[in-house]
Amino acid sequence: MRADCHMHMILDGVDWRQAIARHRAGPDEKWIRRILERYRDLGFTYLRDGGDRWNAGKRARELSDEYGIVYRTPLAPLCKAGHYGSFIGKKYENFREFAKLVGQARAEGADFIKIMISGLMDFDRCGQLTEAGLPPEEIRELIHIAHEEGFSVMAHANGARTVEAAAAAGVDSVEHGAYLDEDALAAMKESHVVWCPTLSTVGNLRGKGRFDEDVVRGILETAWANVERFASMGGILAPGSDAGAWAVPHGSLTEYELLAQILGTGAEDILRRGIRTIRERF
Ligand SMILES: [Zn+2]
Repeated sequence: MRADCHMHMILDGVDWRQAIARHRAGPDEKWIRRILERYRDLGFTYLRDGGDRWNAGKRARELSDEYGIVYRTPLAPLCKAGHYGSFIGKKYENFREFAKLVGQARAEGADFIKIMISGLMDFDRCGQLTEAGLPPEEIRELIHIAHEEGFSVMAHANGARTVEAAAAAGVDSVEHGAYLDEDALAAMKESHVVWCPTLSTVGNLRGKGRFDEDVVRGILETAWANVERFASMGGILAPGSDAGAWAVPHGSLTEYELLAQILGTGAEDILRRGIRTIRERF
């Protein structure tokens, strides 16, 4: 039984603008069925969408039964106005607006809340993010509001202090988690956070010629080292490819391969536990 605990039905791994345009007038069911088929053929039975505001994930959830797939979606991810995420998510300016969006998500049938609390990796510079994370007290309040409404929380989070703050606030899963340190890993371990390191978003850049190969290799090695360390601490890791991100196709085994490369023979047991925990929470 395979799972992709972080994918985006709406994106296509090539061009996000074109990909979104495909669903702008309403979810493209032909496209969605093709992706679900691909996952089914590879033995995937659980998919957790990172969300989109055009209901591509929502439509996929409606169809997923036909493919023997349990499909979970936050509907639209929530991001702070002026920060990363507005290309795909719904924006809020303050806690009041955030709480309103959480209430809307409830009314519209979201399975969980996805928040975006940091920038992205800068693939031209190892160790750099495109922007700093939100302040820790703000992160704490967002997670608190969603939990109060009875939702689990998936957080797009990079950078040690951002991830540490999310973990301390009891976030249910951390996505990406680039550039962590010992304190951030320990905080995730302590709070039983599931970490989806989405190694495919880096590993799949190798040999593509779009970014400096040495930088890509350096980022991947940093991530691998943290994954290895987290596993040795007994932390919970789950496979999530971020399918739909650039160079990350839907229905592929790259995430399993990249995790197995660093986790070795223990990979299967570690990931089984991670998937089980994700399925319990989301
Ligand atoms: Zn994502």
